[in-house]
Amino acid sequence: MQKTYRDFDNYLKEFPTSEGRFGEYGGQYLPPELIPAFREIDDAYETICHSAQFISELRRIRREFQGRPTPVFHCERLSRSLGKCQIYLKREDLNHTGAHKLNHCMGEGLLAKFLGKKKLIAETGAGQHGVALATAAAYFGLECDVYMGEVDIAKQAPNVTRMKMLGARVIPVTHGLKTLKEAVDAAFDAYLREYKDAIYCIGSVVGPHPFPKMVRDFQMIVGQEAREQFLEMTGIFPDVVTACVGGGSNSIGMFVPFLADPVDIVGVEPLGRGPGVGDNAASMAFGSKGVMHGFESIMLQDEKGEPLPVYSIASGLDYPSVGPEHAYLHDCGRVRYETVSDEEAMEAFFLLCRLEGIIPAIESAHALAYAIRYARNNSTGSILVNLSGRGDKDIDYVFEHYGYGEKFFQK
Ligand SMILES: *Cc1c(COP(=O)(O)O)cnc(C)c1O
Repeated sequence: MQKTYRDFDNYLKEFPTSEGRFGEYGGQYLPPELIPAFREIDDAYETICHSAQFISELRRIRREFQGRPTPVFHCERLSRSLGKCQIYLKREDLNHTGAHKLNHCMGEGLLAKFLGKKKLIAETGAGQHGVALATAAAYFGLECDVYMGEVDIAKQAPNVTRMKMLGARVIPVTHGLKTLKEAVDAAFDAYLREYKDAIYCIGSVVGPHPFPKMVRDFQMIVGQEAREQFLEMTGIFPDVVTACVGGGSNSIGMFVPFLADPVDIVGVEPLGRGPGVGDNAASMAFGSKGVMHGFESIMLQDEKGEPLPVYSIASGLDYPSVGPEHAYLHDCGRVRYETVSDEEAMEAFFLLCRLEGIIPAIESAHALAYAIRYARNNSTGSILVNLSGRGDKDIDYVFEHYGYGEKFFQK
């Protein structure tokens, strides 16, 4: 059934259901041995998310440790260079550690503390989730085991150093292709062995219930702040709100507070090198309904339901599925999903550097590229972009492959 913003007044009370369903999507597909562990997390979260002590402690952490609220910024020079449409950024790049991921990692760490756990367990691909979680573990005085494929460890040396500097153990995964998929399996195995003392921390709005809900709730601060800040700055709603979609956490956090408002909402997926299999990670554009990693959603899969290879220039976006809430919002038509290629993202990256003095994460540059496309095609109005992270982590790669972006300025 197609829905408009008028159908979203009671959305948070109804979604997800107590089984973690967003319409046909979500749920909990687990080996029987892990069901008690996830039930414990679910029960604890349901209690704690209503506790005044938990809420006020999280507020204090956000203010004093993370540096929230992050500002909304009007890109006047960028907007003027494109036309009359105005581009605004929610500056999650200014959140401590330089991206939105710390928002849910601090929530997960605080939950672990309330449960009396001693350790946080996670897998990481590019290492961004691992670094944010290692930061949370250090803050709360918890141990942190991060499972990472040997191939990724070699590729992401600076993030491995950061995690270790923050006191985390980085455990190499040496079987199979030695990348994210094997790391997920290894982290699940470890959790199964250690769940009495440890808690598993997923890095996006994916995985079995309650993670898509819990991570969404922790990320909603982004959209709540942005909505209030934008209204205060301009007196009206933006015409469009947009964010990049990997697993979908920064985007869902940005989108949900705007669902009941008269704004268009656009999620941006990575088109990579193009539409061919293995050349992109645009699950919504090219995927189909299925189950993997413990939840039901829309995913890029082969005939046997195994994840297909994915690619994006932004390593934080190359996931073969999306959070189940996105799949629901897609099907009911409330959120539209568009794609942006590597080249479009890189043009946006360099424009923001030169015109506004902000080096964005390549992930975030995908959302910005959509806003630039929108501003070129619309001569009025405004678009609010979630700038999910800063690009310091990307500059060596970018310089090696694109220099200082000369080719984008020669047109
Ligand atoms: C990890 C990451 C993303 C993608 O993850 P989501 O769960 O889709 O938000 C986007 N931007 C940055 C900066 C990231 O580190």
